Amino acid sequence: MEYILSTYNLSVSFDDKKVLNDINSRFKSNKITAIIGPSGCGKSTFLKTLNGMIYENSEAIVKGDVFFKDKEFFDLKIETVREKIGMLFQSPVPFPLSVYKNMEYALRYYGVKRKRREEIIIEKLKVTGLFDEVKDSLNKSALKLSGGQQQRLCIARALTIEPEILLLDEPCSALDVNNTLNIEKMLMKLKEKYTIIIVTHNLSQAKRIADETMFMLDGEVIEFSNTASIFNNPSDNRTKEYISGLFG
Ligand code: ADP
Ligand code: MG
Repeated sequence: MEYILSTYNLSVSFDDKKVLNDINSRFKSNKITAIIGPSGCGKSTFLKTLNGMIYENSEAIVKGDVFFKDKEFFDLKIETVREKIGMLFQSPVPFPLSVYKNMEYALRYYGVKRKRREEIIIEKLKVTGLFDEVKDSLNKSALKLSGGQQQRLCIARALTIEPEILLLDEPCSALDVNNTLNIEKMLMKLKEKYTIIIVTHNLSQAKRIADETMFMLDGEVIEFSNTASIFNNPSDNRTKEYISGLFG
């Protein structure tokens, strides 16, 4: 299955304000796709449609379809959509519990046995590069970790239930360079197993890590293509202006 997630003529309005306008998009499996575009163009709203969260907002009028593989969201249970498509936000939100309890939370909910929980927790802390940093302080409050560690913990926690897709909304915008590079390194590794869609307003970040890039403007997709052609050979003048820093 080359495309794991897609939208057809997707529009979202709040009252009579159209925030997303007829979005057609297809996301490739096991790739990193960056979503770029100026503030207010609808990136976060779009991400919220990609894991069904938008349907919970009674003020949002949603038209068009979202497909996970060959299934329309409406034919899937919302729990299934949530399990398969994890979402993370700009500021990490660990629970006010220990590192271990954060990691254990969903696994307990799903009734995973203690021994197996432990294995999964260690594995996910390792893939996010956190294990060595926290192995001696697993009982420490997660809120005592640094911002970068909290962000990686939230990603590790999301991975415990084995999603297939991770949606990340500007996960590095509050982080310093080293933490940002750490997260980027982690994402490059994670794409072997997961599909990653990341909103970023850091264009160099998109260039560094994204296989594909989608450029949005005023609720529309202007250009969606492989990252090298977006940045080296954009076909739309607005893309050219945005990536050269003329606005945004
Ligand atoms: P971005 O993430 O690209 O900055 P957003 O998706 O957050 O953009 O917002 C796009 C537009 O939708 C903005 O004009 C914002 O004010 C509007 N918007 C987002 N959420 C709501 C909401 N719950 N109610 C009304 N307007 C909203
Ligand atoms: Mg946003």
